[in-house]
Amino acid sequence: MLDKIVIANRGEIALRILRACREMGIRTVAVHSEADSELKHVLLADETVCIGPAQSQDSYLNIPAIISAAEVTDAEAIHPGYGFLSENADFAETVVESGFIFIGPKAETIRIMGDKIAAKEAMKQSGIPCVPGTDGPITDNANDNLRIAREVGYPIIVKASGGGGGRGMRTIHTEAALLNAINLTRNEAKAAFNNGTLYIEKFLERPRHIEFQILADSLGNAVHLGERDCSTQRRHQKVIEEAPAPGITPQQRKEMGERCAKACVDIGYIGAGTFEFLFEEGEFYFIEMNTRLQVEHPVTEMITGIDLVKEQIRVAAGEPLSFTQDDVSLTGHAIECRINAEDPETFLPQPGVIEQFHPPGGPGIRLDTHIYRGYRVPPYYDSMIGKVIAHGDDRNSAIARMQTALREMVIDGIKTNLSLHQDILTDEGFKEGSQSIHFLEKKLDLTTK
Ligand code: ADP
Repeated sequence: MLDKIVIANRGEIALRILRACREMGIRTVAVHSEADSELKHVLLADETVCIGPAQSQDSYLNIPAIISAAEVTDAEAIHPGYGFLSENADFAETVVESGFIFIGPKAETIRIMGDKIAAKEAMKQSGIPCVPGTDGPITDNANDNLRIAREVGYPIIVKASGGGGGRGMRTIHTEAALLNAINLTRNEAKAAFNNGTLYIEKFLERPRHIEFQILADSLGNAVHLGERDCSTQRRHQKVIEEAPAPGITPQQRKEMGERCAKACVDIGYIGAGTFEFLFEEGEFYFIEMNTRLQVEHPVTEMITGIDLVKEQIRVAAGEPLSFTQDDVSLTGHAIECRINAEDPETFLPQPGVIEQFHPPGGPGIRLDTHIYRGYRVPPYYDSMIGKVIAHGDDRNSAIARMQTALREMVIDGIKTNLSLHQDILTDEGFKEGSQSIHFLEKKLDLTTK
């Protein structure tokens, strides 16, 4: 097993990784920015290295500084967490070339999955259903593009192959708007991703977001851990996630899960990964694969009892997965609420000092957070300060537990979105389940009018 791991991230996920390492007897190196020396995992790590100033560009995204930290501490491996460098193929490559283990898939896999056209192509070949649309990039030929869009059928979505984070895409409802929209999207994509390659997809009007969790080792074993429903979103940012997805039958789960696991074997995938789908009228349509741990991984852990971070570490060390597909069974239902330091009405970030903190607890409640009383939430990073996860025998009992937990939880000194979560959990539409990705924005529109 590995001896020492550099945790190249911050906040709750860095603490989550540190905890897994501790349980496995692996020593930890926390690399952090100048603004983060009081982070909980930095205080708990075996060793710490300051890698640069507060701005992420100069610290958490600074590849040479992170590699140097691994060198001076004589670490064996680097865990990238999520966000920051976790899906940066150049980083994964540099880590390996510098003699360390990257806890994630091979750089070439990350590169393929980071290119949406290449990813779709690879998935289609493995039998994963994709959103109907062009097979490859579109050209600058106006007549061709008009014809293609007509064939796909309006509304359509023009997407940048190099896009990410919800940027580099545009929905088009009429032919009159097509050519101008293609030009705009191409220029934006060139500026933002240095890659003007575009493709066209059918725009699905009321889809749900359902994703499958997979784990694969370097010996050719791949399993799926079922799906999550992440349809409760605002501006393409997930707010609440749950597992299993309401209404998905065991047969649908088995069929799509097995296809995802097979695709992993086909592409030589190693580690934890997520296949994201839009789900509409009983059909799954692949949109992208995330080649890393997800924020919402705990809901899967709660219903499977499998520790995803430990498995990531185990397979990165070259060991086989500690279980087989037959060992995976789903028990009960889990819901996660992302707690953000933000104004619940304007959604503006609210950095500042946590003056009071009362964490929730009790049966079925898990809290993944790095905050503590006296901790100052810095203004430089993502506003998520933790996640409450509730597990129950069924969806209703998970919701009831979550409501009890949120009522108990006190965070004073800064504003948070706790009240937004309370509001969503009592919404009749949410209680019904199976809402589309537009559910939350529609609800917010109604309440602010
Ligand atoms: P990114 O990599 O930027 O997150 P995705 O391809 O995952 O881009 O898409 C982000 C979001 O955009 C999806 O979760 C969904 O809300 C919307 N979206 C993407 N493709 C389509 C589509 N074909 N039809 C409808 N909505 C889509």
